[in-house]
This record gives sequence, C-alpha cells and structure tokens, in this order.
Amino acid sequence: MPQKKPYKFSVLASGSKGNCSVHDPAGDGNCFLIDSGISDKKIDAGLSGVNRSIGQVHSVLITHGHGDHLPKNKAGRYQYGKLGHRGNGPRYQPVEDGTTEIEFTGCYCKINIVPMVHDIPCDGFVIESNDGIKIVHITDTAEVPDVSLKYMEKPHAIVIEANWDELLLNRNLQEGSTPGCVLERSVDTHLSNSAMADVVEQLMWDGLEVVVLIHLSSTNNSPVLARQAAEEVLERGGFLAGKGDGQCRVIVSGQDKPTELIILRGNHGQ
Ligand SMILES: [Zn+2]
Ligand SMILES: [Zn+2]
Repeated sequence: MPQKKPYKFSVLASGSKGNCSVHDPAGDGNCFLIDSGISDKKIDAGLSGVNRSIGQVHSVLITHGHGDHLPKNKAGRYQYGKLGHRGNGPRYQPVEDGTTEIEFTGCYCKINIVPMVHDIPCDGFVIESNDGIKIVHITDTAEVPDVSLKYMEKPHAIVIEANWDELLLNRNLQEGSTPGCVLERSVDTHLSNSAMADVVEQLMWDGLEVVVLIHLSSTNNSPVLARQAAEEVLERGGFLAGKGDGQCRVIVSGQDKPTELIILRGNHGQ
C-alpha cells in the first residue's frame, strides 16, 4: 500500500487572549489557519517555529466572531474572503442537517462544517485529507450536538476545548475569586473538562493518534487537570500511549507557546 501523506498541524496559541492554529493536510507546506485571533507578529513567529511562513497560508477558517478568534491584522495581509464564519454572512451555507462540506482546491482535503453551541453562531470543523487522515476541531461550545458528532467518527486527531474544571471553578466561586456570572457563562458557552472527556470517550478508537486540548481558562482550569481528565478516559479505553498497546498522546496547548508540529500518519486502525 502506498504511504499516506502525513497531515501536519500545530496550535500556535490558544486561550481567551487569542486562538490560532496552522494545518498542512499533505505535509507539503500548503497550509490554512483555523482562527487568527493573535497578532501578525505572533502568527509569523508561530509559523516560523514550525518551518512554515505566511506566504504558504492560502485561507483562514474562522470558527466564530469573537475577538479572540477573529483576525487581528488590519492590513489585510491574508486572503480572507475565501472562507469565514457562518455568523458573518453567506460565505458557506449549512445544508439541511446543519452541516456543509467544502472542497479546498490545492489543499488536499475536504472540510465538514458542523454547528457548535455558543452565544453566537460558532462552527466546528471536521477535516479529512485526501489520504483519509481526519481531524476534528471543537471550540467555544457548551456541548457537541449529536448532529455534529456523527460527522466526527474515527478521527486521527481530536482538537478540543477544555475550558473549565468543575471542582476548580466551584472552589474559586466559594473563595470569591470567580464571580457567579462566570459560572453561568462557562456552563452556557464553554466545554468543561468532564464534557471534553465525554466527547473523547465517544470518539476514541484504535486510529486516534493525539488529543490536543485548547482554550483552557487561565483561572478556572489548569494544564494538569485538563490533561488528567483526557488521559483518564483514554487509559480506561486502552488507547493511552505508554499504557499497554495504546498509541494516543495528549498535548495541552497554551496561550504563549506553540505546540510542536504534530504529525499524523494514519497508519493505525481501520
Ligand atoms: Zn467565543
Ligand atoms: Zn474563544
């Protein structure tokens, strides 16, 4: 069987101060961004850290219209307009069941756009390379609706929000460091660690290579707690790397430091 082209991606920044990731579905440098809510300088630095440059970015997919996801560049350096978020006009239209599919010419993949549950329209993405390597991208959502979940089966990577931790948020409430309205907004619009773990549990399988946790709250979550929640559920299923035959890693993204360039080979599972 011919080798699959590896799918490469990196989360350049993630959190309430700005989100951006770069995806290279054929591993050949031809990229698109998901969200670009950080400065041009940070995008350039993040891209060069993974041996990519802005000249190789041909599109930007935007999950939704909040400032931490929307482009910050004023000069229009990138070719926006090819794609956008649903709340911003009819650039892509959902079909009847709430999803739509787009073909990326020259970018070696197709993308299903699926609805999330946020306080404004927000999209999740299911990206599949022409070699069948599949990534799901889930952020800024109170839950993952069934209509979206059914498009996400058998992913090789799950990039998913782990915004708040139930115990930590409750402790912060009791101590008065977090006001009650934050609890309400968190519950209504963002995924908790345990809700994230539920989604991972529903989607995990032999072929899953990595779970990348994004959009962690700096006050109501911690990288350790988020990682624990994801690893526990993967370990229970027998999928966690380093435990038995497991091969799935967990990577926690951060606000200020890009992740490594993650390489998916799609060789496991069927
Ligand atoms: Zn948002
Ligand atoms: Zn956000």
